Amino acid sequence: MQHHPTEATLVAYAGGALPEAMGLVVATHLFGCPACRHVKAMAEAVGGSFLNDFPPTAMDDDALALVLARTERPVAPAVPIPRSPGLPPPLDVCTFGPWRRIGLGLRWRPLVTGGSILAGLLEGMPGKVLPAHSHTGMEMTCVIVGSFTDHDGRYRAGDLVEVEGTHQHRPTIDGDGPCLCFIATEGVRFRGLLGFAQRWIID
Ligand SMILES: [Zn+2]
Repeated sequence: MQHHPTEATLVAYAGGALPEAMGLVVATHLFGCPACRHVKAMAEAVGGSFLNDFPPTAMDDDALALVLARTERPVAPAVPIPRSPGLPPPLDVCTFGPWRRIGLGLRWRPLVTGGSILAGLLEGMPGKVLPAHSHTGMEMTCVIVGSFTDHDGRYRAGDLVEVEGTHQHRPTIDGDGPCLCFIATEGVRFRGLLGFAQRWIID
């Protein structure tokens, strides 16, 4: 694993400031990256120490009663039921739609979420060159299986790629097997034929 989220992204994640789908990409990377889990833990500790500096705030008179009432509600199972077995945590408890072929050797499986960010699994066959595309916002990708390259480097299982703004790239699936990635993007614009297919991707 050679590509990690920026410290700014890890701090934003630790503070709960990332959109849900982006947070899922980071969490997928964190599952396999002790170094980034350490940075995230430090960010949480720093954030927690700031809380100590806040002046005490009086609680409502019924605060204790509300907490006690919650303890009497049914408790959710401690272990989440996997909805997508075969994927690494936390994706294995996420719900995905059906696979859709979006080109020769390329298919897309959308994350079922109420969020406004487009997210899902993208799988490409070996040798597949993804269509050139640019971005209109932030895009995060975590490689789950296989590898791909673009002009910035090679990305293997566990690597996280952050791309922002008008950056353009043209990833190529390398290696002997398919490459499966989890992607969350605020905006992507395909050129050429895949612009035609984009409406299926966005559904
Ligand atoms: Zn990392």
